[in-house]
Amino acid sequence: MTKRVYLFGAGKADGNTKMKNLLGGKGANLAEMSNIGLPVPAGFTITTDVCTEYNAAGQALPKALIPEVQEGLKHTERIMEARFGDKENPLLLSVRSGARVSMPGMMDTILNLGLNDETVLGFIAKTDNPRAGWDSYRRFIQMYGNVVQHIDSKLFEKALSAMKQAKGVANDTDLDVADLQELVNQFKQIVRQETGKPFPQDPEDQLWGAIEAVFDSWNTNRAKIYRKLNHIPDEWGTAVNVMAMVFGNMGWDSATGVAFTRNPATGENKFYGEFLRNAQGEDVVAGVRTPQPINEESKTGAAHETLEQEMPTLYQQLRDIRDKLEVHYKDMQDVEFTIQQKRLWMLQTRTGKRTGFAAVRIAVDMVDEGLITPEEAVLRVEPDSIVQLLAPVFDQDEKQKALGENRVLAKGLNAGPGAGAGKIVFSAQAAENMHNKGEKALILVREETSPDDIGGMAISRGILTAKGGMTSHAAVVARQMGTPCVAGCDALQIHEDKGIMKVGERVLKQGDWLSIDGFTGEVLEGQIAVKPSEIIQVLVDKAIAEKDSPIFQTYKRFMTWAEKHRDMGVRTNADKPGHAAIARAFGAEGIGLCRTEHMFFEDDRISAMQEMILSSSLEEREKALAKLLPFQKADFRGILKAMQGLPVTIRTLDPPLHEFLPKSKEKIAEVAGNLGVSQEALQSKIRQLHELNPMLGHRGCRLGMSYPEITRMQARAIFEAACELTREGYEVYPEVMIPLISTVQELSEQKELVIEEAEKAMAHYGVKVKYLVGTMIEIPRAALLADEIALEAEFFSFGTNDLTQMTFGFSRDDIGSFLPTYLEKKILPYDPFARLDEKGVGQLVRMGVEKGRKGREHLKIGVCGEHGGEPHSVRFFYHAGLNYVSCSPRRVPVAILAAAQEGLKKKLKK
Ligand code: ADP
Ligand code: MG
Ligand code: MG
Repeated sequence: MTKRVYLFGAGKADGNTKMKNLLGGKGANLAEMSNIGLPVPAGFTITTDVCTEYNAAGQALPKALIPEVQEGLKHTERIMEARFGDKENPLLLSVRSGARVSMPGMMDTILNLGLNDETVLGFIAKTDNPRAGWDSYRRFIQMYGNVVQHIDSKLFEKALSAMKQAKGVANDTDLDVADLQELVNQFKQIVRQETGKPFPQDPEDQLWGAIEAVFDSWNTNRAKIYRKLNHIPDEWGTAVNVMAMVFGNMGWDSATGVAFTRNPATGENKFYGEFLRNAQGEDVVAGVRTPQPINEESKTGAAHETLEQEMPTLYQQLRDIRDKLEVHYKDMQDVEFTIQQKRLWMLQTRTGKRTGFAAVRIAVDMVDEGLITPEEAVLRVEPDSIVQLLAPVFDQDEKQKALGENRVLAKGLNAGPGAGAGKIVFSAQAAENMHNKGEKALILVREETSPDDIGGMAISRGILTAKGGMTSHAAVVARQMGTPCVAGCDALQIHEDKGIMKVGERVLKQGDWLSIDGFTGEVLEGQIAVKPSEIIQVLVDKAIAEKDSPIFQTYKRFMTWAEKHRDMGVRTNADKPGHAAIARAFGAEGIGLCRTEHMFFEDDRISAMQEMILSSSLEEREKALAKLLPFQKADFRGILKAMQGLPVTIRTLDPPLHEFLPKSKEKIAEVAGNLGVSQEALQSKIRQLHELNPMLGHRGCRLGMSYPEITRMQARAIFEAACELTREGYEVYPEVMIPLISTVQELSEQKELVIEEAEKAMAHYGVKVKYLVGTMIEIPRAALLADEIALEAEFFSFGTNDLTQMTFGFSRDDIGSFLPTYLEKKILPYDPFARLDEKGVGQLVRMGVEKGRKGREHLKIGVCGEHGGEPHSVRFFYHAGLNYVSCSPRRVPVAILAAAQEGLKKKLKK
């Protein structure tokens, strides 16, 4: 028989933390906390499998669930010594969603379930607390009305505001019993108006309605968007946790709070949290009132009493639980707790979300504290999060100047590290609109954010909110996205409707420049220049000494542990010596793709290039190429020198020639003038070069096949540069790569030219240069015939951008018009240009590797598409047996970590 319900409470549980797939993260950890003796209100978890059953049956619950839920209710009643629906001694419940991985703010929770016109009186009599009774009831009607009955929350909020206004009070807590009782009446009225039926009074009906609503919330739009952004499969489903309520709104000796066992922004080993007295549920996160810090370390400037000061015994108990949790889970935890009349209850624990900074710092600290091994530390950090350590910071001089000029408008919480400057925009939609119009530097300023804002948040350079703490929606999401964020900046008065915000006397409007410092929480007027991260300043710019940067030292220790286990190479895609140097400082072991066409776009070169294209005879073409030669040679010298001692893969000319010709009328006139040809002649050449499908047209090696002199010139430039450098004592390893091969003949002809030029140069300079000639595998036919091609190719490099394009038949430049639909309909699980399609394109990669090495035993194989820096794809390439991946300079540490993790996992399996 399938078990659909798992019990927990009173020091034991059916489940445990390992059962996240079945019980969801929340359920599994409620069970675990019960098992290790922490105070958790009793309850039960309905499995994620039931969600799947429910959806498969067209939103219908399986009959077999009913007796199990009733069993769960009895269990909860027994432990909590109260009865569900009882008039004298009612048990109240919370109904909470909980997927395998936490989805902050995405799913809805219902509190105080079981209240009705009769039980509320019982509750009041039992607790001798009419205020808490009516406060809980009005909250319950609002949550139930919204989540289960889909009534717009605003209707309830309006009634609440009107009540506060009528009473002349600012906070919910200032309303008295009669006010709350009246609110309950009004709320019930709203429900009747909106649904045509009275508010459901039967607790059993309430419970089943709530359970179904949690399952339904799995399919809301915001949940879907969140899953898409985070690559969470729709199939997982959510569990439902039903548990006894405890009350943080029982008076001023009661409270509710959230905490991180360490600082989630910096990773510092300090207990960090916020709480609100006389409050319930989401009040802390939603910014209803400004929360108080739990201790000194959590203070953020404003003078607030701490939990430690106000309730020292309870604080100590919470601290002890914190220590117990860290030792037990051996990781930073994010917890929710509630104090009901001086009694502490734990409501949730989970592995805390953290910034890249915090991830690395916590991993390294925990090794030093003896909690985990360096290997566990390496496996624990998400490769993608390393990108944040390379996040920009403000230029210190400009920042100082701004401080001197009194441009600090306000200070909020340093909720997401990094510095951001941009134009103010007051809604997520406006941000998206401006972004689409080409305005990329934007700071999203909101009262608080909600899951509906995700699109606008994702494209903003910074997020600033007036309300909410370190654990508010804005803060959590910004940290995940790696976007600088300042939250809870209560000095801001935002008037979204008027498109302005006020800070004291100052008024700023949409479009004004604003700078926010997510490291310190400062909000500054105007634009402050943003500079590279400390890591980059130590490693690349050498502007800071290693010993002066603790962040760098931690990063270095961590990366050194990772490097020990890496057995796949990481190179970079770069065609400028400066970029190559950055990548090298990050650990790149060579260049996997140096594109040569970018070199032709600079002023004096483009006209020589155009002259070459317009040539009508070989002679003319060679004359123009001779002009390009010195430029190319100088470029190759620069890049080979920057990478001395390491291989540099240089790709011969790849794009269609028309890309080098002017498009607009004015430009055509200008270029014709420069080249001394008539506009008509130029026009006619452009027409002649026009192609219907340029991506499948005259490009790649096909250019070299038609005009061998182009390949010759490039090869000559490469080898003259290499020979000169060799003579000067540099160690250089050029690898010439022929693009877009579909037959082995193309490669052998091009290769012959390259070798001839190499020999010529070496004879001329009287030196030997070690070099290779290889090819890209980016056309499906080349993957199919890899064994044949490998007889000629001395190395392969998968060009996964073109390979994806040609395998799917998707033009990567036009995919925007249909990809969203494909993702929405789940025809594709993700954008195959961002993350390698393992199922299809991956097969060609595997086949290419296998056949290639059949043709040439130890064939060196790499990848140089965008996928080389994407962790999932890196994992795939590792297992496909590639020798290296190559990616953009800033993704190099990401690729290194992803590769190291796979290497380590393989070792651990042995
Ligand atoms: P989310 O996953 O969005 O954090 P939760 O299920 O954790 O949602 O519930 C939201 C809030 O409701 C929690 O922060 C907690 O304060 C409150 N809550 C949940 N269950 C209970 C309970 N049994 N008693 C009191 N408060 C609860
Ligand atoms: Mg929660
Ligand atoms: Mg290509």
